Amino acid sequence: MKCTIVGMWGGFPKKDAPTSGYLIEKDGFAIVLDAGSGVAAHVQSYIELNEVDHLFLSHYHYDHSVDLGAFMFGRMIGTYIDQAEGALNIYGPEDADIRKQVEDTQFNTFHPYDKNSSFNVGPFTVTFHKNTHPVETYAMKIIDDTGKTLIYTADTSYQDSLAEFAEGADVLITECSHYEGEDAERLGHMNAEEAAMLAEKSGAKKTILSHLPHYGNTEELLQTVQSAGVEDVKLAETGMVINI
Ligand SMILES: [Zn+2]
Ligand SMILES: [Zn+2]
Repeated sequence: MKCTIVGMWGGFPKKDAPTSGYLIEKDGFAIVLDAGSGVAAHVQSYIELNEVDHLFLSHYHYDHSVDLGAFMFGRMIGTYIDQAEGALNIYGPEDADIRKQVEDTQFNTFHPYDKNSSFNVGPFTVTFHKNTHPVETYAMKIIDDTGKTLIYTADTSYQDSLAEFAEGADVLITECSHYEGEDAERLGHMNAEEAAMLAEKSGAKKTILSHLPHYGNTEELLQTVQSAGVEDVKLAETGMVINI
């Protein structure tokens, strides 16, 4: 499978650089993980909007979900003008407001999930881990039909159960919202030491640090994780392609 990082900033976008959004493709089939600010616009650098039939949302903080409306209107209008076929499938934690928004927008379908859910979509199987974050939030595991595995932590503080969920991943995209020594746990996030611990304990083959902070020198995040012994690690960048 191929993962394109559409956006990777925490909280709010930079000019021409969205918050969380990841395009996963294999054999002409596509899913998108999270729809942060700018993702609906920027994903079109890589794929037609109407070719995305499956959108998975980790939680409903704005930096992961605010472009849901753009995706839904894209599908509704796309269908009216004969540029889209079938519903856009939106997967997310159960939420009455989100359910109503989706159900009130033609040609969009809501699929609630929880930690026990599993979806088979095209060549992918998607399962979930319940995180520790101020709102209900899930990490996702995407396995393709050859057994290759991508883990996307979304937002969370460190948990051993997440390291178990991510065990042996080919690629771990982990949030790394804070610098070494900062108390990220209090905010439901991870600092660079905790992201390194997750990478180490999971035994992931490759680690990408994402959901990056808008302050400081992000190269220091990388240095912290490398000095903890994680060898194959990179900072996420807008437009980065990871072949798995
Ligand atoms: Zn976030
Ligand atoms: Zn969040």
